[in-house]
Amino acid sequence: MAGNAAPLKRAERDLVALGILVTAIFLFVGTGSTVLTGVVRSWIYGVGSPDVLLTNALILNIALLIFGWRRYAELQTEITERRKAEESATRLARTDALTGCLNRRSLDEAISMLVDEATDSGDEVAVLMIDLDKFKRSNDLLGHKVGDAVLVETARRIEALMPVRGVVARLGGDEFICAAIFTPGSDCAIERLAVRINDALAEPILSGGLRAEVTASIGIAQGSRGAVQSAALVAQDLLHRADLAMYQAKRRGRNRFAWFEPSMEKELRFRSELEQDIRDGLPRGEFVPFYEKQIDLETGEITGFEMLARWFSPRHGMVNPDVFIPVAEEIGLIAELSEALITLALEDARAWDPRLTLSVNISPLQLRDPWFAQRLLKMLVAANFPPSRLEIEITETCLHENIAVVRSLITSLKNQGIRISLDDFGTGYSSLAQLRTLPFDRIKIDRSFVSSLVRSADSASIVEAISSLGRGMALPITAEGIESPEVLHALRRFGQFKGQGYLYGLPASAEEVKRDLAEQGLLSVQTTMPDAPETPSARSA
Ligand code: C2E
Ligand code: MG
Ligand code: MG
Repeated sequence: MAGNAAPLKRAERDLVALGILVTAIFLFVGTGSTVLTGVVRSWIYGVGSPDVLLTNALILNIALLIFGWRRYAELQTEITERRKAEESATRLARTDALTGCLNRRSLDEAISMLVDEATDSGDEVAVLMIDLDKFKRSNDLLGHKVGDAVLVETARRIEALMPVRGVVARLGGDEFICAAIFTPGSDCAIERLAVRINDALAEPILSGGLRAEVTASIGIAQGSRGAVQSAALVAQDLLHRADLAMYQAKRRGRNRFAWFEPSMEKELRFRSELEQDIRDGLPRGEFVPFYEKQIDLETGEITGFEMLARWFSPRHGMVNPDVFIPVAEEIGLIAELSEALITLALEDARAWDPRLTLSVNISPLQLRDPWFAQRLLKMLVAANFPPSRLEIEITETCLHENIAVVRSLITSLKNQGIRISLDDFGTGYSSLAQLRTLPFDRIKIDRSFVSSLVRSADSASIVEAISSLGRGMALPITAEGIESPEVLHALRRFGQFKGQGYLYGLPASAEEVKRDLAEQGLLSVQTTMPDAPETPSARSA
């Protein structure tokens, strides 16, 4: 209601000004003829004198006329300026300031209109959700000015490819949407558009002497309004489906397009359930460390254990880290989860023979945290665990993230006496230079090569190459995934290794490990075996 008050007042003011002007004109016509005739007669013929009262009324009338006219002219200018301001405010509210495309607010309405139009002509609307790949990285690397130029150029390239009456919007960040009407069965035409957008966006963008290279992942959804649905609901649905498809395109390797499929909806539900279960399960102590033996292949003795996270989920049962670690990373819980597990593992490992080491896996995201080294040290001090018994395993993918940060972190961890292994070696793209400049203490050959060693000549040559690389650089090697005596035998041909794998037993719980070590006399002297086995939930309580 308050919003209506101002225009009403303005309209009233307009009416008053117009009223004054009209009245003044009437008065002028009414009094003017009598008074002016008197004035003319008295000047020319010298007969009589004009009525003073009427003359004053006329002068007042003229003043009113001038006032009314000026007010009216002012109001006209005011109205024109106001209209212009309102138009520009509407334009700003509907468009994205940087690229000039539609923005999120006006997008729904624009797609709803397309849906209505398509329904009238028996056509369908295709919505393409376009998300730039690794835009953040190029933004961080080349600066925000170049980042802005990339976004502006992206919008321009998409607009250039759109059919007439197509809609292009930027949803904020590096997400764009485009939509257009197609006749049913035009899948090929839509795919051609997606391919052309992919190709156009993959072309490098030059700005300020710098060259930015980005690609895009595109999700496509197509549909029309059913008999009962509203256009707005269809628009929302199409956007949601295109979004799901876009994530699928990212998962399939980026720089490509993917169509929406109904199974994606199910996957999404499962995924959000998983996220919630992880959030709930963490404080309930559902995540526990398991341990895999690490063996000196020469002597056959246990040298230590690698901690592997396990989740005992009430809904899903025992879940392996390949499933929940990536989700925990995405929802920002990896540091909390990992640190809770490391705390438990340090507590467990304190009971082992002091010669046994503990290896823990660290996510690339944790390595980006400048306080990680400090927090790890605090955990070691709190657990009274010597840093020399701890080994951190980082995967090759960490090395692509931010090599300078990783280097400084590795150096500070090493200064504390902690050892660093390069995990899953052979699966990434670490260069020899990286291996030389980063002070690793060990490389671990990925289990995919080791377990297929006797079956595949390729795997055998990779294992051989990594072994001679390790010898050349004086880097000790651990072979993961030793599943059979044949693999163990084949490995021995390539040199001296540490090893781990199902041949030596499956990863086991803390209690199983403790019992096993107790049997071998490998517990620290002050430790005695508990009477009853512990359960994950009993420990967390
Ligand atoms: P990884 O560090 O390479 O760990 C070895 C993986 O290989 C483990 O799988 C282990 O169970 C499996 N494995 C061991 N021996 C054999 C074998 O002989 N044959 C076969 N086929 N597999 C074998 P898991 O426990 O599922 O862990 C998968 C990955 O999850 C780990 O790979 C590690 O990168 C990650 N991960 C595990 N725990 C954590 C954690 O606490 N934090 C982080 N950030 N990542 C973790
Ligand atoms: Mg590992
Ligand atoms: Mg590994």
